[in-house]
Amino acid sequence: MTDHETPRGAAERQRTCAACGGAFVPGEHTEVEVLLDGIVRYVAVHPGHSTYSPAREGAAAARLREFAQARAAEERDSRAA
Ligand SMILES: [Zn+2]
Repeated sequence: MTDHETPRGAAERQRTCAACGGAFVPGEHTEVEVLLDGIVRYVAVHPGHSTYSPAREGAAAARLREFAQARAAEERDSRAA
């Protein structure tokens, strides 16, 4: 039993590469990296892409927050409509 995120499903959760922001093609091979953003997260990237640089790690963390905010905004919009 674990209570933290697992690498499996990272690509499905994100749907886009944490490094370049490009969409994943369904069934495409993806690589998973560990990102430390206060907690341990697993982020999916295209093969050969990496979030491993201070600037990129910050961008990847920001992108994850954008996913969450976009999802929250969608929920708000659907409720308001
Ligand atoms: Zn990429």
